[in-house]
Amino acid sequence: MPGLNGQMARTTAQASNGELLLRRQAAVPRGVASATGVFVEAAQNARITDVEGRSYIDFVSGIGVVATGHRHPRVIEAVERQLGHFTHTAFQVNPYESYIRLAERLNELAPFQGPAKSIFFTTGAEAVENAVKIARVATGRQAVIAFSHAFHGRTLLTSTLTGKIMPYKQRAGSPAPEIYRLPFPAAHAGVTLEDLLRAVTELFLADVEPTRVAAIIIEPVQGEGGFNPASPELFQALRALCDRHGILLIADEIQCGFGRTGRLFAVEHSGVEPDLVTVAKSLAGGFPLSGIIGRSAIMDAVEPGGLGGTYAGSPLGCVAALAVLDILHEERLLERADAIGARINAVIEPLTRAATGTPIAHLRGLGAMIGFDVVRTRDGAEPDGPGARRIVAAALDKGLILLTCGAQGETIRILVPLTISDADLDAGLAILRDVIGHDVIGK
Ligand code: PMP
Repeated sequence: MPGLNGQMARTTAQASNGELLLRRQAAVPRGVASATGVFVEAAQNARITDVEGRSYIDFVSGIGVVATGHRHPRVIEAVERQLGHFTHTAFQVNPYESYIRLAERLNELAPFQGPAKSIFFTTGAEAVENAVKIARVATGRQAVIAFSHAFHGRTLLTSTLTGKIMPYKQRAGSPAPEIYRLPFPAAHAGVTLEDLLRAVTELFLADVEPTRVAAIIIEPVQGEGGFNPASPELFQALRALCDRHGILLIADEIQCGFGRTGRLFAVEHSGVEPDLVTVAKSLAGGFPLSGIIGRSAIMDAVEPGGLGGTYAGSPLGCVAALAVLDILHEERLLERADAIGARINAVIEPLTRAATGTPIAHLRGLGAMIGFDVVRTRDGAEPDGPGARRIVAAALDKGLILLTCGAQGETIRILVPLTISDADLDAGLAILRDVIGHDVIGK
């Protein structure tokens, strides 16, 4: 097949980032945006090498996916071993032991008492979709409550749950029905727990009676919405609300879970037990796998055949996730997350008080999940999305890959692999300190 051979020859030839960007623009719709024009040739632990041979320190981890680093040898070994046996049968046709073993291990680790069951999918959005489906079937109710600035995915249901129109849902048609929204309490945004409780009263009076609500879904630390941790008091209030009205509490741990915050599940910081937990990203160390861990009685509500997916719970993802669980334990990565967080805070906190350089404020987070805002003035009152973009661009120039988040893109978020060496962590932080030290306002 000369066409195929020709194509392969072209993709393996060394192209520059600039050439690949042009080909990307011609061949791929602009709707899938890339934060950088750095095309990857290889990645190892906390380093990415681009097609031009330049090495970058990775403070993004593929958006919080490789907590165990790029190509962790244990993950690669597990997947290579699996490749020698089978790559796909569909769990719904020929099941396999790794899926069951992963479910057993996660059920043991579930952040709630009592029997648990787990099911696996491929993407985060799929896990959220199915968690809502399970909650609706289990309760016989339809309504779901999500929060302002939440992010739960880009499918119809999950983008309706997501609390941001641009760029996720503008001109995309009618939202999914029966989704209601409450304000997410965040001190720096001026939203208090009392504001939330007032909004709950109002919501139940005006829009939906609590007996119609199947679930409340919340990220224990908001990811795309700005790295906002939910306080233990917020979780306690939600749990009380759920218990009073027979509503299920879903913790979306897709970005904040799997060790990122210094606990396996971020909700553990609150001491509150959710009913369903969605997981993905760092669960499988770079392989596409998501899942739901939930109370057995709830998880068994859907009839056989009502849950699943052709690729759902891929054997490659399952063995990778089993390796990730071993790595988290053996390399003590939960403790490492706290140590990384302390190191990041030690560098960034003084910059929030600096009299020169780009003004930054609202340093926040849990464990190694740290974010801060780029602001227009030193009182921190006004977010500066363009300023944050300039910081990220300046860092990239110096070899550090960073990402923004937040309502206006004003938050710089740090998601380093938890396996990063101290040398790379310090080198990355030095770049960040350096670019913040320069005043990028209006430039
Ligand atoms: N929930 C949360 C909290 C997320 O951060 C994300 C992805 N950023 C999703 C759901 C959706 O995951 P995916 O992109 O794999 O569908």
